[in-house]
Amino acid sequence: MEHKDIDNMETEVDKKTESKNFIEVIIDKDLEEGAVKKVVTRFPPEPNGYLHIGHAKSILLNYGLAKKYNGQFNLRFDDTNPMKEKMEYVDSIIEDVKWIGGDFEDRIFFASDYFDHMYEAAVKLIKKGKAFVCDLSAEEIREYRGTLTEPGKNSPYRDRSIEENVRLFEEMKEGKYPDGSKVLRAKIDMASPNINMRDPVIYRIAKIPHHNTGDKWCIYPMYDFAHPIEDAIEGITHSICTLEFEDHRPLYDWVVRELEYENPPKQIEFAKLYLTNVITGKRYIKKLVDEGIVDGWDDPRLVTISALRRRGFTPESIQMFMDLCGVSKSNSSVDYAMLEYCIREDLKLKCKRIMAVLDPIKLVITNYPEGQVEYMEAPNNQENEAMGVRKVPFSKVLYIEREDFMIDPPKKYFRLYPGNEVRLMNAYFVKCVDYVTDENGTVTEVHCTYDPETRSGSGFNARKVKGTIHWVAADTAVKAEVRLYENIVDEEKGVYNEDGSLNLNPNSITVLKECYLEPSVADAQVPASFQFLRQGFFCLDSKDSKPDHMVFNRIVSLKSSYKPAK
Ligand code: ATP
Ligand code: MG
Repeated sequence: MEHKDIDNMETEVDKKTESKNFIEVIIDKDLEEGAVKKVVTRFPPEPNGYLHIGHAKSILLNYGLAKKYNGQFNLRFDDTNPMKEKMEYVDSIIEDVKWIGGDFEDRIFFASDYFDHMYEAAVKLIKKGKAFVCDLSAEEIREYRGTLTEPGKNSPYRDRSIEENVRLFEEMKEGKYPDGSKVLRAKIDMASPNINMRDPVIYRIAKIPHHNTGDKWCIYPMYDFAHPIEDAIEGITHSICTLEFEDHRPLYDWVVRELEYENPPKQIEFAKLYLTNVITGKRYIKKLVDEGIVDGWDDPRLVTISALRRRGFTPESIQMFMDLCGVSKSNSSVDYAMLEYCIREDLKLKCKRIMAVLDPIKLVITNYPEGQVEYMEAPNNQENEAMGVRKVPFSKVLYIEREDFMIDPPKKYFRLYPGNEVRLMNAYFVKCVDYVTDENGTVTEVHCTYDPETRSGSGFNARKVKGTIHWVAADTAVKAEVRLYENIVDEEKGVYNEDGSLNLNPNSITVLKECYLEPSVADAQVPASFQFLRQGFFCLDSKDSKPDHMVFNRIVSLKSSYKPAK
């Protein structure tokens, strides 16, 4: 598989602006030739799980084309398999499609609303001698189908009369036969080199209630029969799907041709989006959810759309990511780092930058007056002046990051160590004069003196320091929980174990229970994201954060890959 990485991104962007993707080329031609008047696309999810980043690609592609060509975009539930489908999934999909920016307005449809039409379509095929009721078992149908190198054999039921087929199909609908005892098959060609054309099953019996149609139906259409009909009914012009359906296209075309739809839709395939170090594929995600390995479909380590939202990704960042990925005919996998790049880019100028200490130790300023509080002015975003400034309280006892102090530092360590002076961001220079350890030798307090002359903004420049560290005043700090995430699987170590199970990263989540944040975050409400200076981007967790116990998710670290010790 081709691998796209972050280094190629600039050129990808340049290429994109000057060239059209292959689907746009097809659409341009159709419009030019008058074969299509108005472009209509759709996103056709099956409501059997939550949507993931791969679906986001399909949504944005289909929606983007409709928008670009002043056409229409439909959301259509491909709900023809009641066994795995649920209203919970329907609801989540609607929410996620809207959130990601796929604006379907009121154009929301259900394949199950077309069941009457599909039944009539099947009867039409029977009456044309193009479909028959077959009594072979699933196992026998497989045997008769042949292989890639050998043709299949005709079913012994293939030559039933039209009248008999009409009657049997109607009886199937009326519930006269048990599940699996009969199917309706298209009559095409058992010797076709394309196995999909060897008299495919188009209707099956399943006495299962449906989330939309209830008990009305006990026969359900198969995907390859239903999908082209759904597209044709809605006047879809370009039915965009992923590469695995390429071999199904002849059947798609057969269905719309035999049913004599005017202006039949055209199927176009593109490559699925694969991302490194994450799990896409509803089946696998569902397994993690069902086994309780993750905290539901929206666990921030997943790449479902709801998980990305909870993790603090924005629709804009995902749109940017899809633009960078482009649309391709060959499968490739994209570096997760590219998605991280997009969210950093999007949040860079939008988020307030605050001070937060994730792994605290106390810093005591021995010559600072007890009980005094000063309010230090801090820019809300150094790169975006329009975001203004805020006041941050400063006092004698602060928290700093444990990593920012060392008793015995290596060369080129410019942060605090005995005798060294650093700048406290937005405040004063402090010089380390002492430290306190517990019985294990762990540092519990760092003692410093400050120089009142060096107050930030005073223009002091008599001497310089090499290190600047962040801090939070202990008295007024907001205590919070912060969750750090790593990828849930590691491509380099192998995504699967020998037994086929997933090789999960045991460090995919780290929970820091005692973090101290500037008081300016106290009023934040979901959705709220911040840059924690020198650390990364963080958002309030929509599920677990409470006003008296704030919980933050790390969206992404800063590029510097600075990470507090665990
Ligand atoms: P999964 O493989 O994750 O189970 P699916 O293809 O079975 O997904 P559907 O609900 O059938 O899920 O998909 C809805 C639409 O999303 C289809 O048109 C499908 O081709 C598209 N799609 C699914 N996965 C991807 C992906 N990784 N990249 C791009 N499009 C995708
Ligand atoms: Mg599917």
